[in-house]
Amino acid sequence: MILRCCLVILISLVALTQNQRQGVIPLQREIAESEKQISVLLKRAQRLLSYELTASEIDNHAVQITASPQKIYIEKSTAGQFINFDFLIQNLTDEQLTINQIEVSVLDASDKLILRKSVSNNGSRSSIATISSRTLPANKITLLFNPLYFFDHSIELQKLRYEFTINSKKANKDYTEVITVSPVFYETKTDLALPVQGRLIVWDGHDYYSHHRRTDPILYRLGYTTNFQRYGYDLVPINEQGEMYRGDPKRNEDWFGFGSPISATANGKVAMIFDGMPDNRSFNESEIGKREMAIGGNYIVIDHLNGEFSYFGHLKQGSIKVKIGETVKQGQVMAQMGASGSSLFPHLHYELRTGPGERDVEGLPSYFSRYRRWLGSRSVNVKRGLIDTGAIVERQ
Ligand SMILES: [Zn+2]
Repeated sequence: MILRCCLVILISLVALTQNQRQGVIPLQREIAESEKQISVLLKRAQRLLSYELTASEIDNHAVQITASPQKIYIEKSTAGQFINFDFLIQNLTDEQLTINQIEVSVLDASDKLILRKSVSNNGSRSSIATISSRTLPANKITLLFNPLYFFDHSIELQKLRYEFTINSKKANKDYTEVITVSPVFYETKTDLALPVQGRLIVWDGHDYYSHHRRTDPILYRLGYTTNFQRYGYDLVPINEQGEMYRGDPKRNEDWFGFGSPISATANGKVAMIFDGMPDNRSFNESEIGKREMAIGGNYIVIDHLNGEFSYFGHLKQGSIKVKIGETVKQGQVMAQMGASGSSLFPHLHYELRTGPGERDVEGLPSYFSRYRRWLGSRSVNVKRGLIDTGAIVERQ
């Protein structure tokens, strides 16, 4: 059943992607059309496979759960271990279902329990209320952000068994669905230096709450099955008081970072550039259908020639000094900080990723070398470490 359902989803996504690539109709209509197409395609694919869910199969499996992305990485920081992945839950029934509990059990090689924790509907203010979506619409796929993502250093994360308890009002019963994942530690291959000089705040990184980690469901509807910015950072220069601007925040020029030199995080070859977008903090989502990298405004992508690529987004219009194919050295100034594309205010969006495009590209964990972490009036030097939301850091 799992194989058949996967095939059905695959056929749907391929057909949907082909339609979206034509990208000629406005986004809202595209989304409505896409949803219709998904349901039509699912039915057609089931017929093609002479496959209809039997009553007993629906009875035993109300949903099908997959992990996204398939390769799940562990990040280690001084705080502990983080795993950055989410769930796609397909409701196979004709009724809306409700998630009552998600429980994770961490098991060792002999399947012995190391740790178990959950979010549930226990208590008058229950923890299950913190998840992104408790309800699963009938016959639809829901993206659920994984609420059980953090573990201390003593826990060996080789086998994680997530058990979902899902309630059907109609059948007056709870279904249990299990998905087991085996994450691995990712060691960044490239020696990365921070791309901006001076004191920076990681205004948003890739922790559970960050917008980078949370793929926009619009992208999923447009046929994206990966999250290129899963480990992204928005870096903003600050002064010693922690201020990001002085004067009028609506004026780009009043931000300390606007026009700051942006340098290469590591040696590599320039794989992509885009210039010409104004620094007007403006972005029309329908552009994504026409040009897949429209979201980042002006950008540079560097190929580190080891399967890792650096992406620098929202660059200042007309500031890019490098050309496609050019070799760059770590620390070499390539452009200036701007506010082009989907940019709330002047900042640099940086991410490490698996390729130059966006549609089939996943994010990668990035550890930086040789920086200072500011902790109020004192600082510590870090040889190599993870930075994330809220941290104040400075290249050495
Ligand atoms: Zn960003």
